[in-house]
Amino acid sequence: MSRINVSLSVRSSGYCLAYAHHVVQGDPKTKIRFEATWAIIDHPQEGVILFDTGYTSRFYDTTKTFPNSIYAKLTKVEVTEEQEAKSQINPNQVSHLILSHLHADHVGGLLDFPDAICWTSADCIQEFNSLSTWKGFSKGLLHDLFPKNWSRTSRRFESCETVNHSILGTGYDLFGDESILLFPLPGHAAGQHGALLQTYEGPVFLVADAFWDIRAITHGLGPSPIVRLFFDDWKAYNESLEKLRTFHKKNPEIPLLATHCPQTLEWIESKNTAE
Ligand SMILES: [Zn+2]
Repeated sequence: MSRINVSLSVRSSGYCLAYAHHVVQGDPKTKIRFEATWAIIDHPQEGVILFDTGYTSRFYDTTKTFPNSIYAKLTKVEVTEEQEAKSQINPNQVSHLILSHLHADHVGGLLDFPDAICWTSADCIQEFNSLSTWKGFSKGLLHDLFPKNWSRTSRRFESCETVNHSILGTGYDLFGDESILLFPLPGHAAGQHGALLQTYEGPVFLVADAFWDIRAITHGLGPSPIVRLFFDDWKAYNESLEKLRTFHKKNPEIPLLATHCPQTLEWIESKNTAE
């Protein structure tokens, strides 16, 4: 099958506040906005595909009571209804939804797209099944944001054709046409994957939370070790970072768009002004 191109539009739905010196070690001790970005991918045959969903006001509802209220205490979220994914794309139009990982800022809008086929990794599903509703918040997972039977009805990347990349290792070709390739980027969260897209303007790599600021790739400036408390696996995180550094060195022309990275916002801005 020949390679298919997709179009890409990156969006944002809400934000939380983070400390700059946690995001990049050595940065000032000020608070910065952590925008929850996600993407609309238009595939000529498969239709509209979302990569993550950003926050929705459901975050407030599900964190009202203990123990999820601890999540809300640690993460001050701001989102308005107009910013939510369902206000930016008609849910009836969306045929597939890819989840990079299961944190609330990525799955917040999941319930608004009940007819879309949901894709994620086997490790994400395993994590979901292994954590009780009560314990989920400790891993950034809020079960109320997921449809009933989600872990049985969602599809696994691992059921797709495999591809081998010299730097990124074994990945999955979502539609068997090289338009969307999923590669594991574990560490920040169990089972996290990024999506390497073949767009009309060339490849773009959506890397989710594999890093928070592009300086982790370009200048070796990673987050403060304090954030390891919230990470699934610090060693795996650093290995994923190293892979992306090698990838970037070899392919400097391919944009690496991370969910909360200022460079991703600049990318959105540059596309908006180009329109
Ligand atoms: Zn995350």
